[in-house]
Amino acid sequence: MSNPPVIFWFRRDLRLQDNLGFKAALDSEQPVIPLFIFDPAILQSPRIGAPRLKFMLNALESLSIELHKHQRELLIRHGDPNDVLRALIDETGADKLFFNIDYTPFARKRDEIIQNTLKIDVQAFHDRLLAAPGDVLKDDGKPYVVYTPFKNKWRKLPKPDRPERYEISADNLHTLEGIQNDGIPTIADLGFDETINVPIASEDKALHILEAYMSKPVYSYKEGRNALGNPSTAQPTNPLTQTSFLSPYIRFGLVSLRQIYWSARDAHAETQSDDRQESVSTFVNEIIWHEFYTHILYFFPQVKTANFYDKYDDLAWNTSDSDLQAWKDGQTGYPVVDAAMRQLKATGWMHNRARMIVASFLTKDLLIDWREGELHFMQWLLDGDLAANNGGWQWAAGTGTDAQPYFRIFNPISQSTKFDPDGDFIRCWIPELRDVPDKFIHEPWKMDNPPENYPPPIVDHSEARQRTLDAFKAATK
Ligand code: FAD
Repeated sequence: MSNPPVIFWFRRDLRLQDNLGFKAALDSEQPVIPLFIFDPAILQSPRIGAPRLKFMLNALESLSIELHKHQRELLIRHGDPNDVLRALIDETGADKLFFNIDYTPFARKRDEIIQNTLKIDVQAFHDRLLAAPGDVLKDDGKPYVVYTPFKNKWRKLPKPDRPERYEISADNLHTLEGIQNDGIPTIADLGFDETINVPIASEDKALHILEAYMSKPVYSYKEGRNALGNPSTAQPTNPLTQTSFLSPYIRFGLVSLRQIYWSARDAHAETQSDDRQESVSTFVNEIIWHEFYTHILYFFPQVKTANFYDKYDDLAWNTSDSDLQAWKDGQTGYPVVDAAMRQLKATGWMHNRARMIVASFLTKDLLIDWREGELHFMQWLLDGDLAANNGGWQWAAGTGTDAQPYFRIFNPISQSTKFDPDGDFIRCWIPELRDVPDKFIHEPWKMDNPPENYPPPIVDHSEARQRTLDAFKAATK
């Protein structure tokens, strides 16, 4: 074959622009086969849920539409990636495979096998983060296990160049004529609930959100990011939600961290106000949390299932199914917890402050193992990401890096009063409490006649707090 094709394998990077692996494939000057593989090992995992899957299918549709604009197609195949790739190489004569590195333990193992068994040139790129694992190390060469020194080192590193748009055309994409294309399945084809509504998932939408967010809301991030507000739609356009809502788009790589970082730098340069600049820096600090947790998972893959600190391994967790179910269903009797848990099931999203509150409630008030909450979040979150989710859960449980010390236990009532002062967030998600007066909205059980259709608290916070302190103390004796 005079100019054999090459394969670019899309995974968590469902975009055409500022995609380092895809760009390298285009630069090979060989026609590129854009491929996505549905791997049954992933689809059958109990950690997959309808919201994130539907968002991903929509993102694939968008990617496919973009390729159609260049008269080319996205090739979809189902099966074990190693088998799929081998068959495709035989069929097309492709002589190179390009992809971006996915740092999760599952992906690393899979990719290692592929790199060792395929008989063609395999090129893997660090695209997903601003600083790849190994770029941010302590002076002794070991990985950081505390966020602040990690952040300080990260900030000193040279940053990737500003992304530049590149040309994509039918000439540098391979025609799929005569090649079997399985097409993008529907969520029902994959056996998942099709009724959930998810936000628009496309590269354009991600860039639009980024641009809109950096034009103004980012300047209020520092003071506004903890307010739960009234995000009935969980959309960034809601003025009461001061966070960016970029996480689902980051999860599937509909936008790159480089695009976000440079957009934040521009927003920083646009203003002379110290407060506004500080707000942008606070936003970048959160991006660094994302990098930090991804590095932690990379260097300590055991955290996927184990406590980061094994001194808590003997903790006597509460195994009550009914307590766990009440938490999942938003029926604990603590309005702020229940509102957040219902928001999660209705939209696939939850505000960071709410995630901290419900995670603390599960692990400290109910004393239920963080792994139960982590799994539930993975099943429902649009942005479900092993590294960030695991990091957040172990932080809340007190078992992880930078963890809250176990004796610092969130009080769900004061959290609610502070971050949802008027009860808007609660009323938005708990219709039973809509008519409760402000005075009782955080503690409806104190009313003379509390609403009958809303449960009383399943635990008393002070007693639960003491039980947790005792359990943690006993575990570390
Ligand atoms: P913004 O506040 O606008 O922040 C911008 C970006 O910074 C986010 O999109 C995200 O990429 C990153 N970021 C912000 N806060 C954090 C954080 N605490 N840790 C790591 N990265 C952060 N984030 C996920 O992306 N996936 C998860 O599965 C996930 N699970 C979590 C579980 C728990 C228990 C907790 C406490 C946090 C979890 N987070 C997770 C982190 C955080 O809640 C979300 O990233 C954030 O709420 C996303 O909303 P946003 O895009 O509007 O964030």
